[in-house]
Amino acid sequence: MPPRKRSSHAWIYAIWGLNGLVVLCLLVVAVLYKTSLQVSAADQVIATAAPGETRKLPPTSYFLPTLTPNPFYTPPVFETVTPFVLVEGPRPTIIGFSFGGRPIEAYRFGVGEKEYLIVAGIHGGYEGNTIALANELITYINENPGVIPTDVTLYIIRNMNPDGEARDDGVDGRVNNNGVDLNRNFPTKNWTADWDRDGCWIYRPTTGGAYGGSEPETRTVMSFIRGHKFKALISYHSAALGIFPGGVPWTGPSKRLAKALAKVTDYPYPPLDTGCEYTGTLADWAVENGVGAAVDMELRDHKHTDFKENLKALQVFLNFQP
Ligand SMILES: [Zn+2]
Repeated sequence: MPPRKRSSHAWIYAIWGLNGLVVLCLLVVAVLYKTSLQVSAADQVIATAAPGETRKLPPTSYFLPTLTPNPFYTPPVFETVTPFVLVEGPRPTIIGFSFGGRPIEAYRFGVGEKEYLIVAGIHGGYEGNTIALANELITYINENPGVIPTDVTLYIIRNMNPDGEARDDGVDGRVNNNGVDLNRNFPTKNWTADWDRDGCWIYRPTTGGAYGGSEPETRTVMSFIRGHKFKALISYHSAALGIFPGGVPWTGPSKRLAKALAKVTDYPYPPLDTGCEYTGTLADWAVENGVGAAVDMELRDHKHTDFKENLKALQVFLNFQP
């Protein structure tokens, strides 16, 4: 019986071997078929779409991290400000852009060789009445061009801080979109990023910038001033503290200008001393860089434009010789 036993074993081996071979063949065929399907699908995706057809791209998966929102974060509210438009008058020149990309405009009146500059809105919507005053002055001068002496050219930058104006008309509207107090950002000899807050404005955190002249608004006004030969400059603020002459210490011509403006406006001069030390201001930088005389002039409150007083101030200003 041993030979029979051997032959039956051989059969079993042969059958199982054949089975294995068939299964292997099927697997190979299946893998080849699947690959050919993928290749033809890829060909379809890469195929150029016929003219007029829109090619549909395969969907892409994004894996975004899940963030836990900060419970103390309040999103800022941005308002759209009604733009000031002077109908039938000179177009303003865009002299630069804010940190937030908003235009900074300068109006020009007169053609004389003596140049004067008024800057409003350096503290944005928080001192928005200075911008309103600039708008009133621009409208008035446009209708009464005779107020500009024949030998004078007056420039008015009606809003140096359009980001602040767009953000808020309260304390949140003071800084630019980079959180910088622009009247602390000029590269004066006394510029500092931070300062002793005793007697100073403390309602929101703010800085003097990464360095003097770090902000686009500041650089815009600096290059505008450098491109001219200004006899005098008024930088409008509010409220109530009075008229601050430019310079550390105050320069003679700036003190003379402040005194003359105080006479017709009744704004306090010398200004009220709150104990605050002002660093990096526009008026200080101006007199350190060739402007004959400069003042920071504060309106009486945060609401009114004191137009009558400031029309008288304009006459004194445009006839001032440093
Ligand atoms: Zn101010």
